[in-house]
Amino acid sequence: MKLHEYQSKQIFAKYGIPIPKGRVAATANEAKHIAEELGSRVVIKSQVLVGGRGKAGGIRLAKNPQEAEDLAAQILTMDIKGLPVRKVLVDEAANIDKEIYLGITNDRAVRKPVIMSSAAGGVDIEEVAHLTPEKIVKVHIDPLLGLRDYQARDVAAGIDLPREHWRAFSQICHGLWKAYEDCDATLAEINPLVITADNHLLAVDGKMLLDDNALYRHPDLAEMRDLDVEASSEIEARKYGLSFIKLDGNIGCMVNGAGLAMTTMDIIKLYGGEPANFLDIGGGAGSDKVAAALRIILSDPNVKAVLLNVFGGITRCDEVARGILSAMAEVKPKVPMITRLVGTNAEEGRRLLAVAQMITAETLIDAARKAVAAVSNNQ
Ligand code: GDP
Ligand code: MN
Repeated sequence: MKLHEYQSKQIFAKYGIPIPKGRVAATANEAKHIAEELGSRVVIKSQVLVGGRGKAGGIRLAKNPQEAEDLAAQILTMDIKGLPVRKVLVDEAANIDKEIYLGITNDRAVRKPVIMSSAAGGVDIEEVAHLTPEKIVKVHIDPLLGLRDYQARDVAAGIDLPREHWRAFSQICHGLWKAYEDCDATLAEINPLVITADNHLLAVDGKMLLDDNALYRHPDLAEMRDLDVEASSEIEARKYGLSFIKLDGNIGCMVNGAGLAMTTMDIIKLYGGEPANFLDIGGGAGSDKVAAALRIILSDPNVKAVLLNVFGGITRCDEVARGILSAMAEVKPKVPMITRLVGTNAEEGRRLLAVAQMITAETLIDAARKAVAAVSNNQ
């Protein structure tokens, strides 16, 4: 789950990271009032969950409240990379001398969190990472020990940060690490962390990604979710406790078990098809869950066939088949349905499904071939 800049910065502030004064506004008029309150030059910042807002014209400086209102009105009508701007952050403008990059993420290859920093921060950090990766300093953090003081100093030295800022920089690194750890984040990033004209460090931008699988222990953070940016099918799936991720292909997949679901997608691709989704209905899913899953899959107009791949272990195949049948009676799919059932009582399950005009398959390869064929006939 992605957090907005204003949400990330509020979290950062709780961990002692200096952020500009400011508030979020949903209307141009509110933006004007905030600018009046702040009584300074302000920056109007679109709150959308994509990077590169500055380059897209979604970050503008305003000299006075009137200008703040005008710019906010403009920005609030914008679409940035397909996302509508619903809110703007109105922050006291910073006088920027230097822009630094500072971020923490997981380095999967090393199996540790990594803190990264660069003196060449700001809007071109992707280019820096690509063209001059040596300008990015990386230090791995032992998850059990946490970030150590010497490591923060190593980072400061690595980016040639002037000595006078080391203490403040180290505090910001520790704050960022604590925020990252406490929130179960997968990314906590400040870009840019600026040195202001009056020689202070200030987090001008903020970004956090949170691990969805850990959100259950952060109800306060879960509430921050912006439903605007998520596919409605994913929201619906969450209600039923289904793990669902929408993809761009045309073969809908309904599978029990995450590993089996991944394999199913791989095999579909191997036989020249494209999965429309990842979906794990979980073990022992009853017919209501199966029906919800089927509805969600079929709500995608790209779906031209559905592949059901069920391994009956504890759940008996005939039970699954009955669930599928009652789900089909409710949802009435108009696309070919291919099923592969194996495991306990598979024979009985297949017999039930064959009666319902479903295409049955003996093996997953057979099912994938049939699904790919059904899609090409159905185009
Ligand atoms: P992003 O483009 O989505 O990463 O948005 P940022 O918040 O990082 O802003 C982009 C750029 O706008 C920054 O790198 C700064 O150069 C500039 N910027 C942002 N806030 C301020 C500010 O308060 N004062 C000034 N002068 N520039 C700012
Ligand atoms: Mn930024």
